[in-house]
Amino acid sequence: MSGQKTALVTGANKGIGYEIAAGLGALGWKVGVGARNEERRETAVKRLREAGVDVFGVPLDVTDDASVAAAAGLTEAAAGGLDVLVNNAGITGGGPQEPSTVDLARLRAAVDTNVFGVIRVTNAMLPMLRRSASPRIVNVSSSVGSLTLQTTSGAETGPVAVAYAPSKSFLNAVMIQYAKELSDTNILINAACPGFVATDLNGFRGVRTPEQGAATPIRLATLPDDGPSGRFFDDEGEVPW
Ligand code: NAP
Repeated sequence: MSGQKTALVTGANKGIGYEIAAGLGALGWKVGVGARNEERRETAVKRLREAGVDVFGVPLDVTDDASVAAAAGLTEAAAGGLDVLVNNAGITGGGPQEPSTVDLARLRAAVDTNVFGVIRVTNAMLPMLRRSASPRIVNVSSSVGSLTLQTTSGAETGPVAVAYAPSKSFLNAVMIQYAKELSDTNILINAACPGFVATDLNGFRGVRTPEQGAATPIRLATLPDDGPSGRFFDDEGEVPW
């Protein structure tokens, strides 16, 4: 074995996830493109391969136990293990999201993908990550999940969104529990905010490119062994919880 690292990026067929896969691939890593939409997954794999990335496609719906178990098996078979998991797949739950009128189905959908999906995928991949010399887990979160920023006068935290924003707060809270449990291992787990990025998620209203949004997740995926764990970062530094 060459010492080549392997990463799995969930929701890597487009947007920020695609650019995280491209960036890690450009470092010479083997990259699994986790994605549920087959056509978009195959297109992404083809584009990355043409760019010289050592890439494999991983059919993956983070809300489905069998799909996630199969993805772990496929990753083991394709790469012989896993060094870095980037939990990027996410949804807003759709709109409108005013708390006084929201359809509870929107909250369930957001939490199912953004929180339970991350737990499901992380736990399926942990046996491989535990075997890695320098394992990392990166959760793509959002500053809209920061309770501190949400309650700081003048801070920009987006529109009222009772499904999406609390799902990211929940994700951050869950990640802190993982960091506590894993504190006596070599696994570093951190959360990244990509900034306001122009993608399908927001109808391309974001002001940053997906490549710019991928920068902090890539930095956290490539942390040195003495790097932080259980923390939350964006391009400018640490994000308050
Ligand atoms: P995007 O272009 O809509 O990409 C989302 C990705 O998640 C797609 O590949 C989508 O796959 C995948 N996905 C959704 N549900 C899934 C499921 N059940 N199983 C597997 N994959 C699933 O949006 P994006 O902006 O790049 O979002 C990536 C991450 O960044 C999300 O976690 C989002 O919350 C976070 N984020 C984005 C912004 C922003 O401004 N864009 C800001 C802060 C945080 P399909 O193609 O199959 O739907």
